[in-house]
Amino acid sequence: AKEAGRNRSIVFEPAMRTELERRVELLRDVRAAVAANEFTLFYQPVVDIRERRVVGFEALMRWIHPEQGVLTPGHFMAAFEDQELSLRLGDLAFEQSLRQMRAWLDQGVEFGRIAVNISAAQFRSGRLAEEVQERLARWNVPCARLTIEVTENVYMGWGSDLVSGNISRLHAAGVMIALDDFGTGYASLANLRQFPIDRLKIDKSFVQNAEDEAIVKAVITLGASMGMKVVAEGVEDPDQLAALIRYGCDQIQGYHFGKPMPAEEVAGFLERFGA
Ligand code: C2E
Ligand code: CA
Ligand code: CA
Ligand code: CA
Repeated sequence: AKEAGRNRSIVFEPAMRTELERRVELLRDVRAAVAANEFTLFYQPVVDIRERRVVGFEALMRWIHPEQGVLTPGHFMAAFEDQELSLRLGDLAFEQSLRQMRAWLDQGVEFGRIAVNISAAQFRSGRLAEEVQERLARWNVPCARLTIEVTENVYMGWGSDLVSGNISRLHAAGVMIALDDFGTGYASLANLRQFPIDRLKIDKSFVQNAEDEAIVKAVITLGASMGMKVVAEGVEDPDQLAALIRYGCDQIQGYHFGKPMPAEEVAGFLERFGA
């Protein structure tokens, strides 16, 4: 047994150390990249099915890497799990999206609402609602232009006043609240009633898996019965779209209508879409 234990440690240690080293290296690179302004937001359209118009965009973080090009969050997930970095990226997302909204408002670009993703760490200060309202005021952007997307786990994991209080204050101010990745986390149905949720987002893993049809239908029915609009994410083809329309889904986000794009392409996209 001792022999096996020693062998195991010989086999696994280098691999573990490599993973840890990679993580440390990634976090260091991300820190430098934040300082070098290499992070930016791309915007993906959300389309209202019945009105056939763009109702808004989700702001999604991208790292414009000098050598590797445009990197999606999958390449730097560890940064969102790091307390300090996720706060800095969260800050950056609010600041950039608000500056962008201000610019679009000034240019008369009808972007609808912009949805910003929030991570758990951003609730730690206990003042998220006030911070967001201060920023909105500073950029002179109406609260009604902003949606915040919170995952079930952030919602439920903190449960307490810290999250629900801040969410409620934002909602009362007119910021729209979307529950992200619905069905993939730990939310219980009873909890849904306790929070002011305006939108349920069905995760793309359900939308793209034909075997999950019953789940998708159930979420749409549930959302409708609770007065929430339901957004299906990850819609790539006309068949998925047709099925969602049949089930009575309200809004669609997916490559079928548009991939996440740089801010400069948004006005042109809206024109082509005929909004
Ligand atoms: P999410 O919030 O669930 O965002 C939706 C993801 O689905 C995005 O991935 C989007 O590009 C992708 N998507 C949308 N439509 C389609 C489609 O038709 N096909 C496929 N294959 N994918 C589609 P992305 O941009 O890679 O972001 C991944 C995740 O990273 C996001 O998932 C979100 O959890 C996180 N994230 C992105 N930006 C931020 C941010 O600013 N702050 C925080 N906290 N998290 C962020
Ligand atoms: Ca999201
Ligand atoms: Ca997510
Ligand atoms: Ca998702």
